[in-house]
Amino acid sequence: MMPETDSHSFNTKHRSDNKKAITDQQVLIVGGGHVGLSFALLLAYHGIASTLLEKNRYPTISPSDDRTRRHYLDSRNTALSRRTVQIYQEIGLWDELQSHACRIDSVQISEQGSFGRAQLNKTEEKVESFGQVIENAWLGRKLLLAAQQSPLITLIDNASVNTVAQQVDGVTLSFSNDGEAENEQQLQASVLVACDGRDSTVRQLLDIGTTTYDYQQTAIVGVVETDRPHEHVAIERFSPAGPLAVLPLTDPEGDGNDTYQQGYRRSVVWVCPTGEETKYLEDDAHFLQTLQQAFGQRAGKFVAAGRRGAYPLSRVLADKQVEGRCVIMGNAAHTLHPVAGQGFNLCMRDAHVLAQMMSAQVLKGEDIGNAQLLKRYEKARQTDQKRVIRFCDAVVHGFTHPNPAIKLARNMALLAFDKLPNIKPLVATYAMGLKS
Ligand SMILES: Cc1cc2nc3c(=O)[nH]c(=O)nc-3n(C[C@H](O)[C@H](O)[C@H](O)COP(=O)(O)OP(=O)(O)OC[C@H]3O[C@@H](n4cnc5c(N)ncnc54)[C@H](O)[C@@H]3O)c2cc1C
Repeated sequence: MMPETDSHSFNTKHRSDNKKAITDQQVLIVGGGHVGLSFALLLAYHGIASTLLEKNRYPTISPSDDRTRRHYLDSRNTALSRRTVQIYQEIGLWDELQSHACRIDSVQISEQGSFGRAQLNKTEEKVESFGQVIENAWLGRKLLLAAQQSPLITLIDNASVNTVAQQVDGVTLSFSNDGEAENEQQLQASVLVACDGRDSTVRQLLDIGTTTYDYQQTAIVGVVETDRPHEHVAIERFSPAGPLAVLPLTDPEGDGNDTYQQGYRRSVVWVCPTGEETKYLEDDAHFLQTLQQAFGQRAGKFVAAGRRGAYPLSRVLADKQVEGRCVIMGNAAHTLHPVAGQGFNLCMRDAHVLAQMMSAQVLKGEDIGNAQLLKRYEKARQTDQKRVIRFCDAVVHGFTHPNPAIKLARNMALLAFDKLPNIKPLVATYAMGLKS
């Protein structure tokens, strides 16, 4: 069953005036997570129609549900970079998203038991903010509602892909609905974009290998309450147990960007060695106490914790991201360590570039699945992708190495980062995703 639609109309922008497709060429997207849905919306903005296939059944949602808020401490969140916010602004979605997003005005980086620390401040760096933290549930529902209401997006949920076949002028995909093999149907398009996550079926069907690295770490994700307001500060803390990020969140009733909110809710991503997660998941008191130890009084007192989720961490990189008329995107192309909050933001820059390249191709009256075009896309994204992948790994390995000499070196590096002119603006620009 498809999700319910209703009369509420989304204000997503369309470059084409009449909201009709500007080309007969179609894009097939497999995987309707945040990346697949965002890519479909980016294509729609350019007047390109797509059909999106999602394995799970989408929930029935309507905008009137917005009044029903979830439990105060029950939420997963994503830190959106300034560039990602700009992309959502460009396609007219940000106004809807920002009511559950919270500005990051400064970032503090430090290591437990060490002298090195650094701070980035929006006034010093002359930026409006370093990004926004948004509730995943809100991001997902708003992207889904916008996709449901776009005349250029066809959503098929509860559908699993069986085969992918490429022809000279197109790509054909077969899928089954409701898990019934006899319900097999076929779809054809000029190009197929796989956004079906870390264990991508399409990537396997295309016989594209991966390079995988198991960090042997698990991320514990949850929401906590502190007795001191967050004041829009994001804290990145490295402790012997693992890296830890505490991010500011909106109040349940409202917009984290207004000045009236009280702001005691914070999102926590705590990374621990795999095998140790159970005690942090099951025992609230132990979790809060460990946070307090790692943080001291930086965030005030940790007074309550919501239910936590656990995510085993690995780096999975597709050996290639283009095969004929097929593109591998999102976590299917590169699944990264969440330590620096870069994974989704990188995917959004990929999606934005590919949608723009396809739009330019349409305007020239040419094939959007052209192998040379897709290879050009793959090449164009290499520098940004490699830089982010290297950065995430350097942070994970650099800050967890127990060797005292390396510990001293990283503390000196933090101090240098804090004091030397010109370095902070450069790092801030990269972290905000404004340079790629
Ligand atoms: C703990 C944690 C914290 C994070 N925090 C941040 C952050 O703060 N900032 C940031 O930028 N990034 C962050 N990330 C990374 C971010 O979550 C991912 O980059 C992002 O979710 C990738 O989205 P995706 O749509 O590519 O993949 P997924 O979210 O995995 O979605 C894949 C979709 O494809 C569907 N699917 C799978 N197989 C099939 C199939 N065969 N047929 C059809 N559909 C299929 C799935 O049901 C799903 O809907 C974090 C990651 C973790 C683990």
